Order: sequence, then C-alpha cells, then structure tokens
Amino acid sequence: MEPLLQQDIGGVLRFTPWLEYSWLEHGFGTRLSEDWNRRPDWIALNQIHSDRCLYADGAARGRIGPGDALFTNVPGAALAVRTADCVPLLIVDPPRRAAAVVHAGWRGTALAIASKAVQALVDRFGSSPADLEAVLGPAIGPCCYEVGPEVAAQFQLWFPQRSDLSGRARIDLWEANRRQLLQAGLAPARVHVASLCTSCEPNLFHSYRRDGQKAGRMVSGIRICR
Ligand SMILES: [Zn+2]
Repeated sequence: MEPLLQQDIGGVLRFTPWLEYSWLEHGFGTRLSEDWNRRPDWIALNQIHSDRCLYADGAARGRIGPGDALFTNVPGAALAVRTADCVPLLIVDPPRRAAAVVHAGWRGTALAIASKAVQALVDRFGSSPADLEAVLGPAIGPCCYEVGPEVAAQFQLWFPQRSDLSGRARIDLWEANRRQLLQAGLAPARVHVASLCTSCEPNLFHSYRRDGQKAGRMVSGIRICR
C-alpha cells in the first residue's frame, strides 16, 4: 500500500491528494525539515493543552495567544502547531477555502479539541462538516503510548467497549481524534490517519517520551494561498 504521506526533498511530509489543491499549501514537519520548522511567516500559539481554538486574521505573526488550534480563511495566513508526540491535525474545507490546524495531546484529546475545531469552522465560515477533509499526522502511536489509570480513564468516552481503562493502558490518540471527527460529522473516507509513530522512528521524528526534555519540536502547518 502507498504510504499516506510522502516526504519531499526538504524533509516535509505531504498528503499527496492535497497537492492537487493549487489554493492550499500544507505539510507535517520532521526533524529533517529545519527550514520548514523555522519559517518566519508561521502564525502559532502558546500551546497550553487546552481546547481553545483561535481565529487567525493574518495580520499578526508569531504566537498570537494561548490555545491549541488555529483556523482561518485568509489567503496568506500560515498556521502552525508544534509537536513531539502530540497529534498534529490538519483540517481543510475545500468549497470555502478555509483551514484549521490542531495540537491534540492527551489533554486536548480528552477535551475533544478536534470536534471543537470543526465547530469553529462551522460557526465562523458556515462550513458543512461533510465537506471537511482531515489528516492526522505523526504522533506517538498506541505501540508506545502507555499511560496511567488517571489518564486512561479520560478515554472511556471514546473507547466505550474497552474494560481496561481503569489501570495502566495503551491509548490510541489517533483513533480517539478520528472518532471525534466522525462524531462531528466528517465522512469516514475524508479522515486520514498517517499512523507514523514518533517514538518508533528516531531518524525522522522528535519524541518527547523517547528523548525527554531535550526533544525538539516539529512544525505542522497549513496555508491558504489564494
Ligand atoms: Zn511506537
């Protein structure tokens, strides 16, 4: 099977179907994509593991406030989140040429930030969830993400069939976010999970759980070009 994301010469991972959108630029940074990760035009956040979604008007650059999701329909506004294990999520609305970028660690996922980002697009731009397309990028996978009972218990809502969440358990952050997007009205065929584990691939990804405090961060971003 073809991998969902293709690496370009700058080390950025791209979702091939979106390369056909001439009005859109997007990518998931890696530890190889230093130029991309350091782009001066990024509009970013002081990430606080919340469910706060901020509208970016394109005028302010750099970190525009505390929060964990950014959305816009302004041409030229380049939205970014920084991650090293947390899930970077990109959402686009092709008919309305709007987009969102989300940082979803366990706290943001437990707060359903993915659903809230969809709601932000609906509220601000009149997006129809059925039109939206989403890609869940490299993050710590269920292979490596074991958590304690107090964290595991937060995921019972998204995994109602599991009976092991009162103890130490492995959590699939991709799947929890995917389910939130489906519940928000996205079509299953339009929600794509890259299934690349940051902890399993040290040559390509930073991982906080693997590398601790010295872990770098990778930038995932999206920009409406016109
Ligand atoms: Zn892994």
